[in-house]
Amino acid sequence: MQKIAVLTSGGDAPGMNACIRAIVLTAEHFGIQVIGYKHGYNGLLEQEYQVLKASNVSNIIQRGGTILRSARCLNFKSDVSAKLAAKNLNALGIEALLVIGGDGSFHGVCHLAAHWQGQVIGLPGTIDNDIFGTDATIGYFTAIETALESIDKVRDTADAFERIFLVEVMGRHAGFIGLSAALASASDHVLVPELCGDLNVELDNIVLRLNASMQKRGNSSFIIIVAENLWPGGVTNLAQVLHEKTNLECRPVILGHVQRGGSPVSQDRILATKLGAYAVEQAMAGKSQIMVGEQNNKVVAYPIELTWQQRKPLDPYLVEIQQDFFDISKITQA
Ligand code: ADP
Repeated sequence: MQKIAVLTSGGDAPGMNACIRAIVLTAEHFGIQVIGYKHGYNGLLEQEYQVLKASNVSNIIQRGGTILRSARCLNFKSDVSAKLAAKNLNALGIEALLVIGGDGSFHGVCHLAAHWQGQVIGLPGTIDNDIFGTDATIGYFTAIETALESIDKVRDTADAFERIFLVEVMGRHAGFIGLSAALASASDHVLVPELCGDLNVELDNIVLRLNASMQKRGNSSFIIIVAENLWPGGVTNLAQVLHEKTNLECRPVILGHVQRGGSPVSQDRILATKLGAYAVEQAMAGKSQIMVGEQNNKVVAYPIELTWQQRKPLDPYLVEIQQDFFDISKITQA
């Protein structure tokens, strides 16, 4: 193998740079040249690329974002685009394309594979952790830390004023950041898609917990973590609805895109480094249409088209602890 390419696509995630670095250093170790395409699949269509050498990836492991930039490329879904991408890859003599991104980007990988003879490998880079076949995705751990830092600060002011706060966290349609951030911040309640049924029932449940909290602790802060895309109108609307139901003052906080940024924490840097190196090794072994991931601390190669066919479950024990053991309305002892 002489030449491979890498691109970052879709939502950026802290640790993407660490992953690019590992790919470049591992490839160089084995005498393989690396091309870095810019702006996701757009770079592939427009032949916007640079040769990546060790000197291009020094001092980037600690940086959030991606040196290759990321983008969405809506017209990559067409056959014409995939054929053009194949032609461009062949023109540069690229044997394998490594794509760091989320499940949308993985759909792109499979779409390209239908039109290109070269090898394609996905690396899970998304803060949402919503990819089946890997225990964690690159960026997830940093996003939890970032959310946590803000929630701890919200707790300080909430405590001072004995207020109710609703904090909206990212996750697209998954509750991994929500559940982890809620547990680690000792939040009083969490609303994530995997655990939410009828929203009216959820609302009654919040009121039940609030009343139980006030009975047992008197006036005190009460923090509810809410996953994005869950409540119609988001936390702003939920705060209003809750206020109308309880006559208590409820404050919404939307954490938003800060959760995508920042220097990656060590877990993300190590995961990104492992997966980057392993992806190059898998490419050299002739593998294609796989995602490299990690299961039980071991690197794995997983069929890429299976990564979105099953929904990755939340850790059931964490759910039990947060939803059951720590539910103040169920705690009987004074
Ligand atoms: P993420 O990879 O973070 O889930 P998106 O869902 O926005 O982000 O997808 C990123 C990009 O992947 C899209 O802009 C598009 O270029 C490509 N993509 C997504 N779905 C498909 C598809 N079905 N076919 C081809 N390309 C796709």
